[in-house]
Amino acid sequence: MDDADRAGIEQERLEKAFLAKRTQTPPSRPSATQCIECDIAIPEKRRQYLPGVQLCVECQTLKE
Ligand SMILES: [Zn+2]
Repeated sequence: MDDADRAGIEQERLEKAFLAKRTQTPPSRPSATQCIECDIAIPEKRRQYLPGVQLCVECQTLKE
């Protein structure tokens, strides 16, 4: 195993740790009142339905 292999394994390990942390983190941040992408107001119903939501429907749809 050379250094490049080791670097690749380390990178993979970091990415897995990062992803695991992300998926385990509950949506503890408050829902945004405005979309972080386009600044449009996010409806109260959407914020209650999706705790921690940061995007309006349109931006969320574009991301998916
Ligand atoms: Zn938006």
